[in-house]
Amino acid sequence: MSAGGIVDLHTHSTCSDGFLPPAELVERAAAAGIGVLALTDHDTTAGLAEAGTAAARLGVILVPGVEFSAVWRHQSIHILGLWIDPSARTLRAVLNDQADRRRVRMRRICAALTKAGLPGDELLSTVEAKPGLPTRSHLAAALVAGGHVHRAEDAFRRYLGRGKRAHVAAEWPPIEEAVAAIREAGGVASIAHPARYPLSSGGRRKLVADFAAAGGSALEIITGANGMQHASANAALALRFGLRGSLGSDFHDPQLTWNPLGRLAKLPDGIDPLWRDRIL
Ligand code: AMP
Ligand code: MN
Ligand code: MN
Ligand code: MN
Repeated sequence: MSAGGIVDLHTHSTCSDGFLPPAELVERAAAAGIGVLALTDHDTTAGLAEAGTAAARLGVILVPGVEFSAVWRHQSIHILGLWIDPSARTLRAVLNDQADRRRVRMRRICAALTKAGLPGDELLSTVEAKPGLPTRSHLAAALVAGGHVHRAEDAFRRYLGRGKRAHVAAEWPPIEEAVAAIREAGGVASIAHPARYPLSSGGRRKLVADFAAAGGSALEIITGANGMQHASANAALALRFGLRGSLGSDFHDPQLTWNPLGRLAKLPDGIDPLWRDRIL
């Protein structure tokens, strides 16, 4: 099968905090002209089988992926694992731990919300009734649905964001552990949205250096949620550390019409696409 069409290597389904079930996500991607699509749910591969079946039916190349929550110097960092074998043993063990960490963290966040005068138990039940792994996005949606905030953004600004009353520092594994699990599963690792972390430029360089030293392969140079000014800075970092480039929309929600599937700039000249030798 040839890789015609658009490439989008970062998307979410209802198995984490996306709004479309995996098969519907793939249908939407096919309709948008996407030929190569990665499903990269937060810390879970639960949607890959359903997405793969839909992709085979629609002639889309499905790249099995995951978006790992990891930590580097107390900063939470997202590491994309692409072309992973979801049944690989180390990966399964690490993802089981991630699921436990997410469930424990959600209980702690909801307890903090109770202390802040909100119905934490009720919010926890709402989140736990959802199909996917619990994320703060689910909780933000529950806070909106309960009439406690107007918009998800407000939930992060008032309660869930860093430094706010119900912020709970997650105990994610170090980036080295995420990269090792991805590689052991036959995959390649790419730092998701590298410009989005609140780091100094020196800090970002050190992050990328440590990631490269750990066996990371790429940076997500083009990301739907960030503008082109970041693309050139990301590209410079990739070239400096000998990394390749990935790109993805980070699509979650069809209602966010400004960030659709596959509407992505091309990788800058001189950047080696991560998919070049993987798709024939
Ligand atoms: P978690 O992985 O549980 O910490 O949840 C993080 C997810 O929440 C991210 O992947 C985003 O989808 C979402 N998120 C983070 N910050 C915001 C924000 N300020 N407004 C809306 N959604 C956000
Ligand atoms: Mn998300
Ligand atoms: Mn992310
Ligand atoms: Mn994402």
